[in-house]
Amino acid sequence: MKLFSYILVLAFNLSALSAEDRPNILFLFSDDHALRTIGAYEGSINKTPNLDRIASEGAIFNRSFNVNSICCPSRAAIMTGKHSHANGIWGNGSEWDGAQWVYPRALGKAGYQTGLIGKWHLKGNPTDEFQSWEILSGKGGQGSYFNPKFLSSEGEVQIEGHSTEIITDKALDWLKNRDGEKPFLLCAQYKVPHIHRIPTPDHMGAYDDYEFPEPNTLFDDLSTRSPFVSDTWMSLKGMKGSVLNIAPSKKELAGNPEKMPSFLKEMTEAQRDDWHKAYDPRNREYHRLEKAGLLEGQAGVRYTYQRFIKDYVRCIDGLDEHVGRILKYLDDNGLAENTILVYSSDQGFLTGEHGWAEKRWMYEESFRSPLLIRWPGTISAGTKVEALVQNIDLAPTFLQAAGLAVPNELHGVAMQAVLAGDIPNEWRKDLLYTYYDGGIPKNRGAYNMPRHEGVRDDRYKLISFYDHDAWEFYDLRVDPRELSNRYDDPKYQTEIDRMKGRLQSLKTAYQVPTHPGLPKRKGH
Ligand code: CA
Repeated sequence: MKLFSYILVLAFNLSALSAEDRPNILFLFSDDHALRTIGAYEGSINKTPNLDRIASEGAIFNRSFNVNSICCPSRAAIMTGKHSHANGIWGNGSEWDGAQWVYPRALGKAGYQTGLIGKWHLKGNPTDEFQSWEILSGKGGQGSYFNPKFLSSEGEVQIEGHSTEIITDKALDWLKNRDGEKPFLLCAQYKVPHIHRIPTPDHMGAYDDYEFPEPNTLFDDLSTRSPFVSDTWMSLKGMKGSVLNIAPSKKELAGNPEKMPSFLKEMTEAQRDDWHKAYDPRNREYHRLEKAGLLEGQAGVRYTYQRFIKDYVRCIDGLDEHVGRILKYLDDNGLAENTILVYSSDQGFLTGEHGWAEKRWMYEESFRSPLLIRWPGTISAGTKVEALVQNIDLAPTFLQAAGLAVPNELHGVAMQAVLAGDIPNEWRKDLLYTYYDGGIPKNRGAYNMPRHEGVRDDRYKLISFYDHDAWEFYDLRVDPRELSNRYDDPKYQTEIDRMKGRLQSLKTAYQVPTHPGLPKRKGH
């Protein structure tokens, strides 16, 4: 197999990609995007014609996973092609070491023009990872939805508008002003649909007369899992106030301006008027239902789910529309053919499944990430990729596309081998997951989440909550929604033992420390 790979690599390098042959790379990225809110994915609850176009003209990846399903670790894993322990971004509070190897710097050194626009979020601003960068600043790197501040090497500026619109404008300006002699790498990284979800004004008014389908597991009682699983703080049930866009009306604020929540203070008067026009009637209805006692128990969860998912999809609608502007630019400027166009998100998201609205878990909804790639000439239109891929595979894929060698230290593997939709025998059979941003039993950390690690193959998933000496095991073929933990089922003991062996082998191969100390944190 090694010889086979060597010959392949040699053949690839000998094809000698000249500067003009090297493909451009346009990486469109969002934050917390659930697969069930992309039209192209099975079971989708909404329409996303522009994102779907990337899938229909290229490939949709049905088994694309994260190494650590939370914002900063995901971003670091993508840039370094490595698991969290190796790139130092264990959790959202970890300090970024910008001097380490990252694929955008490697492409830049090889003659690409490279740029980053939008959400960076790592603790430590970019230095020379990208040749140019303009990142959302403020709010711990989250940035604001309305009138956000952007930081670049020139300093910080505030720009009027919605972040989705501004990031698209900036991406299009970057493309228009680039050096046409060089291939490019542009990463346009959106904030949507991260909490607190505020749609673009033209989508704020949607879905008042529509109810989205509820996930089948909305009322999961979590009864076969370890007790701490139901103690985590991520229930839809607990969501309230401004995170659901429940806030005082325009009329109420006219008499009591001091009651204006900070997200409304950030808006211009015209933007606030748009918000009030859309949300004041919804909030009047909310107060009526609450007063009448109609939001108790399951009715309250159902109401919260609708408020949550409608804002979520409204944010996605804005994103999809702006992705359409980028697609049009590529079409109009002859760039569609020689550009690898990628859409992904830092992780998936639990949009009501198991009653939750969060990520972090190794459960499928947050462990998976959406991944769509259009690459004319290399990927046939309408390809479905079922191979197990992970976000650490993006860096080696881009390097190989640019005709560069993939450093041995990377954990990811170039995905070119699976882009035809077949799974070669040599392809990986299972994936390692690690999540460190939780706490230990006496110090439960963010969201009261436990740390965990696990392994998933084509059929089974084993999760170790090592601080609690607790395990979960799922047979995804018969239980794709992960409702029945079979760790104590004698029928599965052989498979469980095998998966425990695989977990240890993967940890050994990647040199993952056993039960590491809690990560060092810098701010949050
Ligand atoms: Ca995220």
